[in-house]
Amino acid sequence: MARILIVEDNEKNRLLIRDILHHYGHEVLEAFNGREGLDMALEQLPDLIFMDIQMPVMSGLAAGEALKADPRTRNIKLVALTSFAMKGDRERILASGFDEYMSKPLDTRRLPHLITELLGGA
Ligand SMILES: [Mg+2]
Repeated sequence: MARILIVEDNEKNRLLIRDILHHYGHEVLEAFNGREGLDMALEQLPDLIFMDIQMPVMSGLAAGEALKADPRTRNIKLVALTSFAMKGDRERILASGFDEYMSKPLDTRRLPHLITELLGGA
């Protein structure tokens, strides 16, 4: 079981991910924009974060860069959620420090495999 933070302004996506994570027995934390996500990550130090890219107040890219620049949060696994389908986006997101990338609509079957891959079965 892992402690996982979902940072996503879209309620439907947030609930979808939360249900899957609960099903696999993980502890779930939620935030609704990049700023809140950043604050909660510092406070709760989750094992992994699913971070939407397009959000109000602070984008997922900006929040992700801040997390990876801070020694307190740099080791948290970071997965970008994005509906961008343009070529080069994956490279840009990974270059910003994200460990992985999932495009929307989310492949819900990949979610548990991705978590095992990133956390080593934790
Ligand atoms: Mg969004």
